[in-house]
Amino acid sequence: MRLLAFDDYRIGAWEEDGIHELTDLLSPVPTHAAPLRMNELISRWDELRSAVEARRARGPALPPETVRLRPPAALPRNFLAAPLNYAEHGAEMMGPMASGGTSAKEMGFFVKAGGSLTGASGPIELPDRDRRFDHEGEVAFVIGRATRGVSRAAALGHVFGYALILDLTMRMTETEREERTMRKSFHSFSPCGPWLLTADEVPDPTALGFRLWVNDELRQDGSLRDLILDVPGLIEQASAVVALEPGDLYATGTPAGVGPIEVGDVVRIDGGVLGAMQLTVERRPW
Ligand code: MN
Repeated sequence: MRLLAFDDYRIGAWEEDGIHELTDLLSPVPTHAAPLRMNELISRWDELRSAVEARRARGPALPPETVRLRPPAALPRNFLAAPLNYAEHGAEMMGPMASGGTSAKEMGFFVKAGGSLTGASGPIELPDRDRRFDHEGEVAFVIGRATRGVSRAAALGHVFGYALILDLTMRMTETEREERTMRKSFHSFSPCGPWLLTADEVPDPTALGFRLWVNDELRQDGSLRDLILDVPGLIEQASAVVALEPGDLYATGTPAGVGPIEVGDVVRIDGGVLGAMQLTVERRPW
């Protein structure tokens, strides 16, 4: 099933005929708590699933082009990401970004600010700084239940679903070496979506992947098959450190082909069953 958040964090199922709204199946919430609706749906999935299935088959459906897409995991308590997790990307980064040749397996996760998350409607907004900004296309997974100290063997049972994400990055220079978390946490530097594909439709996550273009140039073509530390490994490693919860988000790392983006570019990422996002790159208006 393809689940999405849209407009003021209404929740829907994205079907062939459009979006079937699910918001009223969830608890009424004050406006400030609306971004938590998907977390509630994930937490109560076993209880709500049959009602959701019934709604999917019933109209009316909203045309997707009429809504503003929000990130399907809008308010993760933990938003984690893997550093170097593809050997070929590690090789291309060994110049300016040399990190000692170590990968996610040795380094573990880093954290991105939740405030960097936006949806597939875009845009990407670059701050007015004389720096290089890079695209990192990635596949993310969303946690489905309380996850503490989980073994690799049990790990995939804790995944609720998968979504495309961009992990946009301001590169360091010789003299400017800010924390990775800050360089990757500008507003709009984590566009995610367009939907969250539930894990029951992904029997083998290594079959997931994507291609990414900047304007018409193919830059990245990646598959989770090539991860250094795979999804079960990432969950085992992270859940040994922090208590993961329904709605938590983990970006699995980027393959080779990372490159710069500039104002005026159009970034397109297509993940097949994960959908596609087309994002314009603009100057941040603030
Ligand atoms: Mn990344």
